[in-house]
Amino acid sequence: SIMPATLSAISNGAKHGILFKGGVHLENLSHLKAIAFDKTGTLTKGKPEVTDVVVKDGLSREDLLLKVASIESHSNHPLANAIVKYAKETLSESLIRPESIEDVSGYGVKAKIGHDEWKIGKASFVGKSEAKAFADGAADRMASEGKTVVFVQKNNEVIGLISLKDVVREETKQAIDLLKKQGIYTIMLTGDSQTTAAAIASESHVNEHIAECLPENKVEHLKGLKEKYSNVAMVGDGINDAPALATANVGIAMGEGTDVALETADVVLMKNDLPKIADAIELSSRMNRIIK
Ligand code: ADP
Ligand code: MG
Repeated sequence: SIMPATLSAISNGAKHGILFKGGVHLENLSHLKAIAFDKTGTLTKGKPEVTDVVVKDGLSREDLLLKVASIESHSNHPLANAIVKYAKETLSESLIRPESIEDVSGYGVKAKIGHDEWKIGKASFVGKSEAKAFADGAADRMASEGKTVVFVQKNNEVIGLISLKDVVREETKQAIDLLKKQGIYTIMLTGDSQTTAAAIASESHVNEHIAECLPENKVEHLKGLKEKYSNVAMVGDGINDAPALATANVGIAMGEGTDVALETADVVLMKNDLPKIADAIELSSRMNRIIK
């Protein structure tokens, strides 16, 4: 049977925008040693915007953007949506229809337009050393500003890049600082590059970041963190995060996240309000003192 103190803590949480799907999760929060966060849509707003388009000398910027947007219009990745939006705002020509398209989860998109083979995505997808060398190392400079760099390869040659910036939520730093004060170790997990991840991690104040995670790796990393810290929460918003939310001792979803994340989570932050995590832990410790 549920204890009166638990009931009152659950309703207190609900009043303050934290939904607990059961008393046990509230109890578990007081034992947490570490919390892992997804980057995009969790620590950041998840609404990236195009900041730079760089094209190989002699090629047309407009043509590159048109082809890339035409391919990305078939993907629903947040980076793809941002590139399509930017192209529609800045180009006069309308998008074309590629002959074939293949979404490569965690890496990017492959497509055929006429006789040309295109690959759009992360460095390791188009060839790491060539990507790094493109335009005098432009990608590294952009990544160190926290931008995500998307490479464009045509017929096995890197011919351009598009970089995008997603802003860190205003309340992220405060939320992380509060958790650190409670003695909780904070980790960011992301599929993004090492350099971009390091920049966002430093803006967010997290203790550690793990970059270049493939969707299936997030679960492996979480299992590793559970071994190391024994009680670990995961905070996320995307379909990709659901397996990790299920693996964590406490899965926490952003209220505006995808349905799958909301369904899988044990706790929901109703207004995407990250500092509420520290409040929930405080509430949980107080409740446990009353019960014990
Ligand atoms: P995350 O949401 O943490 O960035 P993802 O697994 O969704 O992780 O993507 C990892 C990386 O793969 C992205 O940072 C990006 O570089 C690349 N990528 C994935 N899908 C696309 C796409 N449709 N267009 C361009 N790049 C992509
Ligand atoms: Mg996300």
